[in-house]
Amino acid sequence: MSVVIVGGGQAGLQVADSLRAGGYADGIDIVADEPGIPYQRPPLSKDYLVPGKDAAPLPLRGPGFLAAKGITVHDGVAAVALERGSRQVVLSNGRRLGYGHLVLATGAANRHLACEGAGLPGIRGLRTLPDAQALHAELPRARNVVVIGAGFIGLEFAAAARAHGATVTVLEFAPRPMGRALSAVTAEWFAAAHVRMGVRLRLNEGIERFEAGPDGRVAAAVSTSGERYPADLVVAGIGVVPNDSLAAAAGLETANGIVVDEALRTSDPSVLAVGDCASFPNAHTGTRTRLESVQNATDQGRHAAGTIMGRTGAYLDLPWFWSVQGALRLQIAGLSAPGDQTIMAGDPDAGKFSVLCFRDGALAAVESVNAPADHIAARKLLAAGHGPTLEEAAARGFSLKAFGQAPASAGR
Ligand code: FAD
Ligand code: NAP
Repeated sequence: MSVVIVGGGQAGLQVADSLRAGGYADGIDIVADEPGIPYQRPPLSKDYLVPGKDAAPLPLRGPGFLAAKGITVHDGVAAVALERGSRQVVLSNGRRLGYGHLVLATGAANRHLACEGAGLPGIRGLRTLPDAQALHAELPRARNVVVIGAGFIGLEFAAAARAHGATVTVLEFAPRPMGRALSAVTAEWFAAAHVRMGVRLRLNEGIERFEAGPDGRVAAAVSTSGERYPADLVVAGIGVVPNDSLAAAAGLETANGIVVDEALRTSDPSVLAVGDCASFPNAHTGTRTRLESVQNATDQGRHAAGTIMGRTGAYLDLPWFWSVQGALRLQIAGLSAPGDQTIMAGDPDAGKFSVLCFRDGALAAVESVNAPADHIAARKLLAAGHGPTLEEAAARGFSLKAFGQAPASAGR
């Protein structure tokens, strides 16, 4: 009854690791279309791009781990079809792998720009190790960098490009940066912080077209407001689409990702889906959600392994995220939503604070900037459902860290 895992990223590796940690003794095969050792993505837009760093990729597991655990990785090989009737996965090298359980951990792929000139040399995305290696080589020579999209990728890359001394323009067609992930107050603080870092942040402005120079490479970006920005390097960070076509072709239910139940099973109970590709019922928001984060990939990986080994129960882990943008460390616990009431705790002028987001009178999310102790407290309080009330948080001098350390009887 072997387990086949499609996708050798954060989620797929975690499933395999947790199966072995839980005593699963049968075969485990990971089908991974990227060649080489499975690696971590977060450093690709952070440490990897810092000036002077000759960053090597960080493997997801230490050397020898996979062999020692009897986990077979078929790297550089894609799963091209699922035959659910005979419980087989068809591989791009012609092989077939039979399974008792199949886990789809296929992740997501970058959304591509569709405007005129989007295919010019010098315009790149950032998802994979080869993407990051190309940028690592080009950044020290880049003078005029244009970034499309002020999401996590865009702003992490913008901070790295500023550290290399480049002129950096970020075009974002929404009114705020990181609008999908952050409350308005934190997003606006980040907008101002990037301007202080020297980033030319252009909000409410999308990309209209790119122009080529005499060498055929990108030379300028023309925005939807008609501005022309010189560019010798462009990075697009305009979001991702889930890799769900393999599942859809096999007749599994998909809708912005592979649809799973609370135990992370697809519409076929012998097939599970985890990580960026999975659309799951989110107990924290009461809605169906697809999350794109390391926490979600690893916690869902652990949960799916449990489901395979016969454990019952719903996936309930608290979502949390982080981002590093120059000297700014953003940590988010929970999920904020438009309409949340927000309370500022700490000192935004000193760049060390937390924004507490309340929904229906209860703490729903905490966004911390350079305040790691607040973040740790927020995760514990949110997971336990013991957050402060809005009135407690609004009191003068309120500290989330201190509230988290107080005995349960005092203030809770
Ligand atoms: P992936 O990591 O995308 O892995 C899926 C793998 O499956 C890929 O290798 C894909 O090629 C492969 N695959 C797809 N289809 C097939 C097939 N048919 N056959 C075989 N293989 C297949 N998150 C954070 O929480 N914090 C961060 O700071 C952070 N930084 C990031 C920085 C960058 C540059 C990027 C790109 C992402 C970052 N993320 C961060 C997001 C985080 O890395 C992802 O949410 C996480 O990697 C998702 O893991 P996954 O295993 O679901 O998907
Ligand atoms: P993202 O967070 O979805 O941000 C994309 C941004 O680009 C959004 O603000 C989007 O606006 C905007 N946009 C879309 N099309 C545009 C256009 N044509 N012109 C200008 N702006 C446009 O995604 P991302 O930053 O590309 O990141 C990709 C993936 O990597 C995600 O899964 C992300 O979670 C992950 N990642 C995570 C981290 C982290 O957690 N620290 C770091 C790096 C990457 P709309 O929202 O209005 O569409």
